[in-house]
Amino acid sequence: MNYHVLTLFPEMVLEGLNTSIIGRAAAAGKISIEAVNIRDYTKEKHGHVDDAPYGGGAGMVMQAAPVCDAYEALCDRLGKRPRVLYMTPQGQVFNQKIAEELAKEEDLVFLCGHYEGIDERALELIVTDYLSVGDYVLTGGELPAMVMIDCISRLVPGVLNNDASAEEESFHDNLLEYPQYTRPEEYRGMKVPEVLLSGHHKKIYEWRRQQSIIRTLERRPDLLAEANLDKKEKKFLEELMRERAEEPAP
Ligand code: SAM
Repeated sequence: MNYHVLTLFPEMVLEGLNTSIIGRAAAAGKISIEAVNIRDYTKEKHGHVDDAPYGGGAGMVMQAAPVCDAYEALCDRLGKRPRVLYMTPQGQVFNQKIAEELAKEEDLVFLCGHYEGIDERALELIVTDYLSVGDYVLTGGELPAMVMIDCISRLVPGVLNNDASAEEESFHDNLLEYPQYTRPEEYRGMKVPEVLLSGHHKKIYEWRRQQSIIRTLERRPDLLAEANLDKKEKKFLEELMRERAEEPAP
C-alpha cells in the first residue's frame, strides 16, 4: 500500500506516522508514506496558496491550482490516477468497513484541507471520495488522514505481527471486541474469568463471542442489526434482550 498525502504540513504527517507499528511497517517496506507539499506547486509570489473567499465571509480558502497541480504531478510520476480521498467534515463518516474496502487499493491519495477548506473546483476535478472522521470540525485534514492511514495499514498483510488479531477486533462482524486479560491471574481481588485459563479453545471462542454480543448490546446496540451471528448466537442475543426488557427500570 502506498499513501500519498497532499498537505500544507508534510512534517506533521510524516512525524506523526513514523512511530510504533506504522513506523516499523514503513521501515520494513510493507507500506510507504509520502507527503507532498502543496505549497511547492504554487506559482504565486511569496508562496501563497490561499485567498479570501468570493462573496465574503471569514477565513481563507485554499486555491485550486496548487492542489490540482500537486495531484497531476503525482499522477505523472506514478503513471496512474489513484483515488483521491478528501478529508472533510462534510464527508461520509469513516469506519472499519470503509477501511477494509480502501485497504484493497495499491495507491491512495489523501487530500488535506486547511483554513476554510479548498476551492470547490479543485474538489470537482480530482476528488473521488469525501471522508470525515466525525461530526466535529478540526483545523486541518492532517489528523483525519493520519487516523485513516493508521486504520487502513493495520489491514495490510504483514503490518501487524499477527494478522488474525485484526479479524477479531471491534467492528469485525459488526461486534465490539470481548474483554481482554493478561497476567497476573488475580489483581486487587479480581480474577481472570475461569474459562480463559481452561485451555479449552472451543469454550473460550464461545465465551468470547457471547461477551462480544453482551458488550455490543450494552455499548453500541446500533451495530447489532448488521452483526454477523450464527443461529445459536442469535438465540443468545434474543434471550439477553428479553432478560433486559424484563428487568425493572432503575
Ligand atoms: N469550512 C469547512 C466546513 O464547514 O465544512 C471546514 C473547514 S476545516 C476548518 C479545515 C479542513 O480541516 C477541512 O478542509 C478538512 O480537510 C479538515 N477537517 C476538519 N474537520 C474534519 C473532519 N471532521 N473530518 C475530516 N476532515 C476534517
